[in-house]
Amino acid sequence: MSDTLFTNVRILDGTGTLPYGGSVLVQGNRIRQVGRSTAPISPAGATVIDGAGATLMPGMCEAHTHFSWNDAATLAAIQTMPLEEHVLWCAKVAKKYLESGFTSCLGAACAKPRLDVVTRNAINSGQIPGPRYLAASQEITVPGGLGDETLPHLPFPEFSFGVNVNGAEDMRKVVRMFLKYGVDSIKLNLSGDNFVPGANSHTTWMTDAEVAAAAEEVKMRNKRIIVHARSAASVKQALRHGIRLIYHASFTDTETLDMLEAARDEVFVAPGIAILYALLNEAEPWGVTRETAVSWGYQEEWDAALESLSKMHKRGIRILPGGDYGFAFNPHYQNARDLEFFVKYLGFTPMEAIRSTTLYGGQIMLQPHELGVIKEGFLADLLLVDGDPLANLSILRDPKRLLAVMKDGKFAKAPEIVSQRAWGQAA
Ligand SMILES: [Zn+2]
Repeated sequence: MSDTLFTNVRILDGTGTLPYGGSVLVQGNRIRQVGRSTAPISPAGATVIDGAGATLMPGMCEAHTHFSWNDAATLAAIQTMPLEEHVLWCAKVAKKYLESGFTSCLGAACAKPRLDVVTRNAINSGQIPGPRYLAASQEITVPGGLGDETLPHLPFPEFSFGVNVNGAEDMRKVVRMFLKYGVDSIKLNLSGDNFVPGANSHTTWMTDAEVAAAAEEVKMRNKRIIVHARSAASVKQALRHGIRLIYHASFTDTETLDMLEAARDEVFVAPGIAILYALLNEAEPWGVTRETAVSWGYQEEWDAALESLSKMHKRGIRILPGGDYGFAFNPHYQNARDLEFFVKYLGFTPMEAIRSTTLYGGQIMLQPHELGVIKEGFLADLLLVDGDPLANLSILRDPKRLLAVMKDGKFAKAPEIVSQRAWGQAA
């Protein structure tokens, strides 16, 4: 692996520190040296990338990723994609996430039992390019809840988007199956969702006995539970069972916020608010008018989510971007839009938004001491960005402004910078 020296870059290190001019040397897969402009680095043998004032920042983390969502409008249309096509789809999506600047993604459920595991393994073994990835199970749900797509006349589990469980022992069996397959995370749907008839976002139908059985199995094997929890009752249920990664958390009361705050050194919230926005404002081509979305309860949830998440942010609870991209009305690769939404709707500064996808990203990927920050000794996951993301976060979702993407010391997207040359060799 050749070493790389980025010179003449504006370093936005991901910690919240103001950017500064300097150089960054990557040796192997790690950041070896970070120099202020007054202390230039000149190693022999490294490929030099003259950034010409571009911003160098850590790769972004998507905290709630569904590679296997195939940009269809319904869960059923995702589920019915044949397996062979589905595997190829996941490989394509993984590559494009990486090229879009997401060097880490945390799987938040897949559409068939082993899609996430197979994709992660293929990335890690070098068969396909992709981000660092933590693989999830399918969604685990209860009959009638979010993810149960079986029909009365077709009660076959293969027709279901998620896996239905009935009772603690059934849960144990399903969780053990996914753990055997090698998932990093078990996904439970604790609450409903507004687009499910009869199981809206306020519903909380999984029993404590079921959740406890899952938690026991997962803890035994040192893995993680991640939860779909839109209702206040489901957020509290998650916290009571020691679950530390909560998706959505739209509805909260004071008790919920107090419980989240009490656990804030351990808990992460990834709300995935873009899909709420998309359903209310951008889903008409797929038959969901604003009026329809409002009637389903999305305006109520949007308003509640903005209030809940703004309060969480003020209380110092870590909120991360990403979530539920991969539907027709909320397509893949626009995920960095969450950062703009955090600033526009949740009271984040642009710096806090960047920190949520870099510093917190390393933490949520369970690599807090080596990932998500530009710091000597950390893994070399880096983005070279044309412009200043702090002045305009939308450049992070513009492929033309993403000049280079490096993961683990290697370019996933190489810079087209003409001054590139090997240091110490004839130019
Ligand atoms: Zn999701």
